[in-house]
Amino acid sequence: MKIKEVLASIVFPPRCPVCDEVIHVGKDTCDDCRKKVVCIGEPVCKKCGKPLENQRREYCSDCARKQHYFSQGKAVFVYQGEIRQSMYRFKYSNKREYAAYYAKEAARIYGGWIRRKQITAGRKKAEDTIRRRCLPWRWEKGCSSQSKNAW
Ligand SMILES: [Zn+2]
Ligand SMILES: [Zn+2]
Repeated sequence: MKIKEVLASIVFPPRCPVCDEVIHVGKDTCDDCRKKVVCIGEPVCKKCGKPLENQRREYCSDCARKQHYFSQGKAVFVYQGEIRQSMYRFKYSNKREYAAYYAKEAARIYGGWIRRKQITAGRKKAEDTIRRRCLPWRWEKGCSSQSKNAW
């Protein structure tokens, strides 16, 4: 680690993007939060990525009823508990540094899909997209309150 980075980590110690407690340099989250955060797993809606309760369905009740302006969406976290608070701080307390963790988890889960779809975005653009779209109640056209279950 460069001296500049060491000084920066002393003045601005890295914080857990989930609970906002100080964490060791090089860790993504604190140990407690690593266990608490629930990432989305199958079965999910093929349109918006929200978890499905009925495994035999392709779409959630929301997507079965209406058209969305996007062709396909993916959700990373089950929108509950600590991660919900984390996203609130990200959006309203200017915790931009959390984007790195969200992006890393998204890449871990959907890296193959992103490569297959040849989706590319600069870091700034990706951050802005996350900021604009991440919180379901702020999603514009096409998303209802039912989308609060996933992000
Ligand atoms: Zn934590
Ligand atoms: Zn859906």
